[in-house]
Amino acid sequence: MTNIDKKTSDILNRALDDAMESFERDHTVIYGPETVKLKTYFDFVARADRSWKKSKQCAFQGCTNESIVRSHTIQKSGPLALFAENGHLLQPSLIQNDGMIMKLIGLQNASVFPGFCEEHEELFARFERTKTLQTPSDIALQCFRMVCRELVRLQHESNHFKLILDEYIQFRNNYIKAKLLEAKADLKISAITLTGDAVETTFIERIKSHTALIANVSSGIYKDLNAAIRSGDGELALFHIDIPDILPVCLSGLGTLQMTEEKPGLLEATLFLGVLPSPKGTEVIVATDHGNKKLLEYYVYNCLDSRFALLSAIESWMIYQTDHWFIKPSEWNILPMQKRETLLRLMRDDHTTLGHECPLSVFDSTRKKMLNIFETSQEYINNGERAVEVQRNSPPGSKRIPQLGPN
Ligand SMILES: [Zn+2]
Repeated sequence: MTNIDKKTSDILNRALDDAMESFERDHTVIYGPETVKLKTYFDFVARADRSWKKSKQCAFQGCTNESIVRSHTIQKSGPLALFAENGHLLQPSLIQNDGMIMKLIGLQNASVFPGFCEEHEELFARFERTKTLQTPSDIALQCFRMVCRELVRLQHESNHFKLILDEYIQFRNNYIKAKLLEAKADLKISAITLTGDAVETTFIERIKSHTALIANVSSGIYKDLNAAIRSGDGELALFHIDIPDILPVCLSGLGTLQMTEEKPGLLEATLFLGVLPSPKGTEVIVATDHGNKKLLEYYVYNCLDSRFALLSAIESWMIYQTDHWFIKPSEWNILPMQKRETLLRLMRDDHTTLGHECPLSVFDSTRKKMLNIFETSQEYINNGERAVEVQRNSPPGSKRIPQLGPN
């Protein structure tokens, strides 16, 4: 603002102070009346939804074909179908004003993402048919599509954040402009610059952290898995754990593991987490890039060293790490209302690193069944507490937790 006399300058400063005071009190004031606010929000959601459903470049390294729009991260006819009730499962979903809710989702739409072209979809056909992961190659491929789904999701979210940020800045600047023009109608404003806006900073930080994570995963586990799939060989930092307990949830997501050592200090790894139940039990995949193998081993041997520990860990993945999971509706609905509400609040508000146990149990009936098997097992009767120890001679890269007791 130039060539303004003192009186006008005072009027404009007052108008600016008032505008900024309202803005600081409630940032959504820039969107205008409630109806416009809601419309803007629903437009964003609809746009994000449309963009997620669009074909993208195939996620297989080096492939330039367009992806089909509905690759499944988790096999539809295997783990997902196992717990569907009337063709539906429940998935956590964050909704404006309602917070976190459990939403019914049709089997056809559960875990789909625009992942691979038709040719590379065929890579998964073998274990899609057999419905279980039978070979090291099946396991690597399943982990690969979990990793690809996260990469596509992170890129999609990052693009969406950029879009929201651009529109937010436009709304905010128009709001300030309108308030100044209200004070002086013939004011010429060439540009508006605002520093220290917390909303803007939050979005910039989110975009930065997504970009860094995409780069890290792309040059790490994504590269390791591509190489292993192409050569049919290759050492992976991956554990495939088989347990006889049938957990009523399918999950595929990522979590952060942190560990502090005297030297070099804080270590951090991104772990890919998969839970795939079958009529015979549950297969669990935990993987990271080759460079973080020691950290992964530390986590598996310390936090996943018994069937009960694994059950608690999976519950904490569901609450603190990822919302990409699908539960049998009746298993969730049978939980007391207050517990469901607390779990949803924890999912919305609490995000911790891996290794933090959830204070509440999600799988009440599964836990009871396991306790019953355990306490009546000959192993427990003979050895008491020692029976929970886990066999340590599993081959590298694979870990089988022994069944406790008869069944
Ligand atoms: Zn392809």
